[in-house]
Amino acid sequence: MIFKRILGVLFFVVCGVFTQSSLANIHAENEVFITKIDEGVWLHTSFYVYPNGTTFPSNGLIVREGQSLTLIDTAWGELQTQQLLSVIKTEINLPITKALVTHAHADRASGVDVLEARGIKVYSHPLTQQLTIEQGTAVPNNVIAELATAGAQVKFGSLNVFSPGPGHAMDNIMVWLPDKRILYAGCAVRALQSNSVGNIAHGDIHSWLKITQQLKNDYKILRRVVPGHGEIGGFDLLSHTEKLILNQLK
Ligand SMILES: [Zn+2]
Repeated sequence: MIFKRILGVLFFVVCGVFTQSSLANIHAENEVFITKIDEGVWLHTSFYVYPNGTTFPSNGLIVREGQSLTLIDTAWGELQTQQLLSVIKTEINLPITKALVTHAHADRASGVDVLEARGIKVYSHPLTQQLTIEQGTAVPNNVIAELATAGAQVKFGSLNVFSPGPGHAMDNIMVWLPDKRILYAGCAVRALQSNSVGNIAHGDIHSWLKITQQLKNDYKILRRVVPGHGEIGGFDLLSHTEKLILNQLK
């Protein structure tokens, strides 16, 4: 019971749910959607249900690599991740060979054991592995050691995975799809519907401002930005995030 209660608290604190009422919606429990956003690229969206019955959406990505798929972030919860695998089977019908989780919070990593039980290798920042061990939540079994250095970028199939430095979380990493010019920014970039930076208890707001300004400088050529929650957008999501951080720092 205590473990369940701790898990419940963790679900609450991830990604600033208390201040995100504008993103809350009513959806059926365990409902998971995938939406094609480019050739060989799909957004996955799951919904975590809170005790008051409202739900909060969470994004991840699926990328086709030849005849297999790479999954970026689990769905929010084990049941939702099982549902996600079913939806991928039905709608894409290619095997997932590897996955990446972009930080240690439940909306990114709570389905890790479901993936690993299916033989999918799950990778993360080394700190993500350490934090999940400390939290007692599902632990990614593989790390990309280079990501321990802020600013590091590594190839992950056709994807570039990079560690921008501490922001929303100390271990947040991002993915750049060079051919599509899509930036998967996860929870370190806020959707236009978000009106605050959300939970920064596990991050570094000053560093977050710096990395957001660095992203604005480095990714001027981007076509799309995928935030951890809410709607996909363009470059304006980076400016919006910068504005929210500056508001928080006032
Ligand atoms: Zn988070």
